Amino acid sequence: MLGYVEVTGELAQPGERVRARNGDARHLIELQTCDGTSLVSGGTRIYLPPRQRCFHYRHPLGNDATRRGITLPPNVSLTSPSTWLWLPELTGNDYVRVELTVAAGHAISVPWPRTADGAYRIPASPQSSRAYTVFGRFRAPRLTVGDTELTIALVDSRDVVLDANKTLAWLEAALTDLHDVYGRLPNPDVQIIVVPSGPSRWSSGRSPVPFGRVMRDGGETVQFFVDPSRPLGEYLNDWTADHEFAHLLLPYVDHDQKWISEGFASYYQNVLLARRGVYSEPEAWQRLHRSFSRASEISNPPSPNGTHGQPFWEVRMLIYWSGAALALLADQRLRQASDGVISLDTVLDKLQACCLPSSTIWQGRALFEKLDELSPIPVFVGLYDEYADAPGMPDLTTLYGDFGIRVENGRVNLDDRAEFAHIRRAIMKND
Ligand SMILES: [Zn+2]
Repeated sequence: MLGYVEVTGELAQPGERVRARNGDARHLIELQTCDGTSLVSGGTRIYLPPRQRCFHYRHPLGNDATRRGITLPPNVSLTSPSTWLWLPELTGNDYVRVELTVAAGHAISVPWPRTADGAYRIPASPQSSRAYTVFGRFRAPRLTVGDTELTIALVDSRDVVLDANKTLAWLEAALTDLHDVYGRLPNPDVQIIVVPSGPSRWSSGRSPVPFGRVMRDGGETVQFFVDPSRPLGEYLNDWTADHEFAHLLLPYVDHDQKWISEGFASYYQNVLLARRGVYSEPEAWQRLHRSFSRASEISNPPSPNGTHGQPFWEVRMLIYWSGAALALLADQRLRQASDGVISLDTVLDKLQACCLPSSTIWQGRALFEKLDELSPIPVFVGLYDEYADAPGMPDLTTLYGDFGIRVENGRVNLDDRAEFAHIRRAIMKND
């Protein structure tokens, strides 16, 4: 049974306020300064007297997984540090250095980047949702992708043991797809957590990976809920992991403009599975076309920016596929104008080099301005200004013509005599 986490905090200057975003000070035990004076706390805050920089407390280690109907073994804790770690406000280049000690035989998975000397560093971050720490007796195998060695947290539930070989083979394939976009991972410190899906709506899907998500809180975390009963072949044919990992190609974009991050990830999920050979080139275009056309069936559609505040299930297709169409249009314009030398991949490569992982929340237009600044051919702001506030889906008629994508009764036929058919084919291939 895991009991408590014991925390000693030392502030760079006295007088800083400390807070646990989702904490409850009533759970703090033996809260005191490092010289033994007891401290006042309330709500999410600890109040330090002037001139005090050092504080100490214990906090019970709970389990957030139960909220999703998943019961973990008693010797594993999967919980958000936002509930047990009291921190100063972090902005800009601020960071908190963390040194962790765990009981012998216990493993660690945290969202924070590692330092060269084996500690961790909590940077400012968008805090888009609650990230997790995992402590205790769980498996944390290594996975090498390109030059990067990642640790994967395989968190078995009380009743279900994950198949490590299958899980790692699936993650390796999807991470390699992401790696090959520009020859490295967008974030070599990404935390990856795999949990069996519980007896809830997440387990009853057609997919072996009923649910995945990206969290940007003190680092970047990708968490998957998997159905361990499915065979490896189904995992390898599933797009969820490629979609979630593709989110890391962009910084966190304002929640109100979800269509940008969802769109780019949805575009890449198809492109990456085609590049790996899971989809043939015609199948990838068929899938994109089917989604684009379903997204254009919404009656009285809002603009992509206007999807925020609408009932999610009514505008869901527009959220996912308007941004995907914009990503495709940008890719086409870059490739056609440069005879295939420049692409969305090469511009995202520069975005990573300058700006990722990013500690801040980006506005959509500012992101497109940055992409134009980095791109030898500016195409992004023009597309944004044309479509972000216009109702419905971006117009793909010209693109379909240029690429030789002909549609009859919903079926896509590819015409290789089209002027830019070679560009169309190149999108779906690794070069
Ligand atoms: Zn997504």
